[in-house]
Amino acid sequence: MKKASSTGAQQDRQRIRDRDFCRYAARLAGSLGDTVRVTPWHSDRDTHHHDNSDCEAARKISERERKPGTGDKPLCNECAKLDSAGP
Ligand SMILES: [Zn+2]
Repeated sequence: MKKASSTGAQQDRQRIRDRDFCRYAARLAGSLGDTVRVTPWHSDRDTHHHDNSDCEAARKISERERKPGTGDKPLCNECAKLDSAGP
């Protein structure tokens, strides 16, 4: 009986680990999604908009210069390249 209950506890722990892993994987996928596909932004000084946080040119735009949306500008070449490259 003691053995059975400890096995049950182990299974519970395993289940919790699996659940934690799923949550971790979801968070990981979510954070990857954040870096790859984000809300587009642009700056008044920029002729293109960006939607990839890995973009070098986008990184140079300071937070307060960033404006949400595309600003009716074409997507930056670097972002397009990063987007098509995938995670
Ligand atoms: Zn860009």
